[in-house]
Parts: sequence; C-alpha cells; structure tokens
Amino acid sequence: EPAPLDLKKYIREIPDFPKPGILFYDISTLIRSAEAWQVATGRLARLIGTWKPDLLAGIESRGFLTAAPIAQRLGTGFTMLRKPGKLPGETISLKYGLEYGEDELHIQKDAIIPGQRVVVLDDLLATGGTLAASVELLRKAGAEVVGASVLIELTALKGRDKLDVPVNSLISYD
Ligand code: 5GP
Repeated sequence: EPAPLDLKKYIREIPDFPKPGILFYDISTLIRSAEAWQVATGRLARLIGTWKPDLLAGIESRGFLTAAPIAQRLGTGFTMLRKPGKLPGETISLKYGLEYGEDELHIQKDAIIPGQRVVVLDDLLATGGTLAASVELLRKAGAEVVGASVLIELTALKGRDKLDVPVNSLISYD
C-alpha cells in the first residue's frame, strides 16, 4: 500500500511576505498539483460532511478556492463572503479589527435561507479574527453556522479559541 500523501510537502514557506518578519504559507504549490489538491479537498470534504451542511461559505479569495471544490464534492451550494464593493444588490456587512486597522466583509442579503446549516471556509487560520467575523456575519444573515474549516492552522496563535463553532484543519504548524 502506498503511504498516505503528506500534504505539508506541498506547502511552500516564503519568508518576509507580505512584510519583513512574516513567514507566509503559500498554497499555490498545493493547488497546482492535481493529485495533492484532489487529496486535500477530498479529506476536508469527508470531515465537513459529518456536519451535514446545506451550504458552504468561502472567504475572499483563497477561501473561494477551498470552498468551491468541496461544495461540489458534497453536493451543496456555495456562497461568497467578499470585500466591500464587490457584491451586487443589497448586502449585510461586518467591520472587524485586524492587527493594524480594520477590514470589512459583505454577504448578499438573500444569500442564506434562514436556518440553513452553513460551514465557513478559508485557506488558513491564524489569529482567528477573519473566521470569527465571518461566523458573526453569517449569523446576521440568518445562518446556523455548524463549523469552520481550513487547509492550514497556525496552532500557536490559538485562533480556534476565538471561535464558538467546531473547527477542522488538514495541516498544522506550531
Ligand atoms: P487571521 O484572521 O486568522 O489572523 O488570518 C487569517 C487570514 O489571513 C486568512 O484569510 C488567510 O488567507 C490570511 N493569511 C494570513 N497568513 C497567511 C499565510 O501565511 N498564508 C496564507 N495562505 N494566508 C494567510
């Protein structure tokens, strides 16, 4: 039997991006490998499937890459959480604090049928600020948020402690 694929080998570590002193975990090298990307989305889909979601929500923009193929595998729909000025029609928004400054996410007002079971996805969980804001925004839009999922978790930052939903991840770094 072949050994299970080690997905960590497909993550490229780039020092000093986007700023000096930051080590960036680049998923480009994962998604460009047909085999590794199949395995990654398949594993995450199996974990997420246990939450029985009706809909997946992806956070712009690497969360879109993560959520869309998994929604197809699970046979659910997919909705977008986007930066300001991107979504047409009426939106619901939420401002949230970053390390420096503020950011804002939007969702279309009718994106969620009230009570739908929604799982929110991003590529990476660091401090948890982005996912915590996304969970709050989805609830404002009427969702029952049943979980949050990422490809990569930076465990030392304890981002999952900021979330009041179950979290799963495929690859962790201290
Ligand atoms: P948090 O809000 O949890 O502190 O940061 C997570 C957000 O920052 C995610 O949207 C993620 O895309 C982005 N991010 C922060 N650091 C990295 C990194 O090293 N690699 C990637 N791919 N995304 C990162």
